[in-house]
Amino acid sequence: MTTLDTAPDAAPGTAAADVREQSPVNGEPCVLLKLGEVVLKGKNREQFERRLADNVRTAVRPIARVDVVRRHGVFIVRRPGADLATMERVAQRITDVMGIVWAHRAWQVGKDLASVERAALELMDGRTGTFAVRSRRRDKRFPMTSTELDRHIGTLVTARYGQPVRLKNPEHTLSIEVDRDEVFVYSGGLPGQGGLPVGMSGRGLVLMSGGIDSPVAAYRMMRRGLRVDYLHFSGMPFTGPESIYKAYALVRELDKFQTGSRLFVVPFGKAQQQIKSSGADRLAVIAQRRLMLRTGEVLARRLRGSALITGDALGQVSSQTLANITALDDAVELPILRPLVGMDKVEIMDQARRIRTLTISELPDEDCCTLLAPRRAETRAKIGDLRQIEKRLDVGELADQLAASVQEHRPAYGDPAT
Ligand code: ATP
Ligand code: MG
Repeated sequence: MTTLDTAPDAAPGTAAADVREQSPVNGEPCVLLKLGEVVLKGKNREQFERRLADNVRTAVRPIARVDVVRRHGVFIVRRPGADLATMERVAQRITDVMGIVWAHRAWQVGKDLASVERAALELMDGRTGTFAVRSRRRDKRFPMTSTELDRHIGTLVTARYGQPVRLKNPEHTLSIEVDRDEVFVYSGGLPGQGGLPVGMSGRGLVLMSGGIDSPVAAYRMMRRGLRVDYLHFSGMPFTGPESIYKAYALVRELDKFQTGSRLFVVPFGKAQQQIKSSGADRLAVIAQRRLMLRTGEVLARRLRGSALITGDALGQVSSQTLANITALDDAVELPILRPLVGMDKVEIMDQARRIRTLTISELPDEDCCTLLAPRRAETRAKIGDLRQIEKRLDVGELADQLAASVQEHRPAYGDPAT
């Protein structure tokens, strides 16, 4: 298959549930997955597909142990003997796996016309409105061409239920995919996330506040195939632990996109106090962000990560001017990825809502950054001035100490809230 399936802009998991309750004779419920950019990857495709199949199996393991069969740009997810409700949950869960564009709950039926007819009639039973049949043959050994099959099944359904065929913008689409040993019949599907399988692009460390932006930044990098760990700085011991609970809840939600997430927490209050008493004044916020990045770099190296990720968006707050972003880049050698750099707050919030982190981010907490917000923050930080402050603080040593003080947590998707 050479076409690139594209997911619509709809929220995943909201498309109509289209698999009927009763099983057509001789059919097995399964899930048919359409892959996105993976199909474009040429020589790496084998590796991509293997990784993606692993990620699918891992994501659904708490629901069922499934077989993932790879076939010419689609995956077939099966569990012999599984009931419809289980396969329904499997399909839902797979919409969070990066690299999947569509999850179709399908009937796998025998490779003969009678079986296809039965499944088609079963799926269209009780429906009203226009419909179209779309057939595709991944294996040409079938007595009819795709067009013949479309017409044959379309005529059959109209004759039985009286529904009119409409090829352009039909209300229902009945899809028939003829494969090597079997035929898949389905109608409708659940849009996935698209993107690349997590793990294909290496590993990075997300600087995770309790705010709206950094969770979205994490999501966008996971969708580009990066496996991420998370680092949160709390104001402890000068603030309560609320920001840690928030970071924990956010990572637990985001864990649905990759599984196995690690959250590292650093008590940052004392270091902030040191920055304050170093006379950093208007530069305190940038000095603090540089110290966060340096600490992140020490930790990332330990975790074999090769990038830092932040939720910076150009101009959103005073610490995010171009001059300040340059001053931040100067603090570390690792690349700092900023997937939100060109996004509006409204766009970021829409995305946060869609991935279900917004309500968590909006919970009240005491952000550690407010501890040392100066009356007027510098918008054009000079790197020379920052280096001078950092010399007084011995930041290299400080970053090492902070990185050594991390506490590790494993927030897992589906775990009960604590
Ligand atoms: P966010 O909504 O992600 O908090 P923001 O718009 O509030 O972002 P800042 O507070 O300036 O912006 O933070 C910019 C970025 O710095 C954040 O997106 C995050 O990556 C990092 N950051 C800020 N505070 C923390 C923290 N307490 N722990 C870890 N990273 C942080
Ligand atoms: Mg913030």
